[in-house]
Amino acid sequence: MGRYIGPVCRLCRREGRKLFLKGQKCFTAKCPFERRPYPPGQHGRMARLRRGRESDYARQLRAKQQAKRIYGLGERQFRKYFDIAQRARGLTGQVLLQLLETRLDNVVYRLGFARSRREARQLVTHGHFTVNGRRTDIPSYQVRPGDVIAVREGSRNRAYFKEVLPQWAAQQQVPPWLERDLDNLSGRVLRLPERGEIDTQIDEQLIVEFYSR
Ligand code: SF4
Repeated sequence: MGRYIGPVCRLCRREGRKLFLKGQKCFTAKCPFERRPYPPGQHGRMARLRRGRESDYARQLRAKQQAKRIYGLGERQFRKYFDIAQRARGLTGQVLLQLLETRLDNVVYRLGFARSRREARQLVTHGHFTVNGRRTDIPSYQVRPGDVIAVREGSRNRAYFKEVLPQWAAQQQVPPWLERDLDNLSGRVLRLPERGEIDTQIDEQLIVEFYSR
């Protein structure tokens, strides 16, 4: 199955928590999860009332689904990351999160150059970013320490980068493993993120358990 292109707020309601997929809207009263914090669909409200104790499987599945949805990945792509993490040295769950965090689209989002990961993905796909001076339009590109990510010269005069972005970016805190130069619309990867610096509130151990069943 390909990437999910349906309404994303539905995903937050499905997961029973805010996944922050819509940028600014997520922080306003317009957030549908604030207004309808129960699963979508005809029986959503009842399902919430009837919900008993979650099974281990349900908790593992939800953790996996949440990670997948936060980073905007399909099942196959997510599974591929898990397989790579499993073969790598270190704790599988933590390596998995590290791999997800160092995707180019996520780094663009973390630098505050996009209001959501979805938007970051689109901006990258449309060729608005360079990595180490080379135009890179692959959202899954894995950045490494020392890499410099910048808005492409030819894109800097666009209204988004001149008007919308500076305002948004100024409000966003950059995680300590990244460094941002807002005046030059660029950023650098200082090192790989540590677990404590990834704030996506996912229990990665549950994901490991899910795939180890
Ligand atoms: Fe989720 Fe954001 Fe939509 Fe709220 S506005 S339901 S947090 S994606």
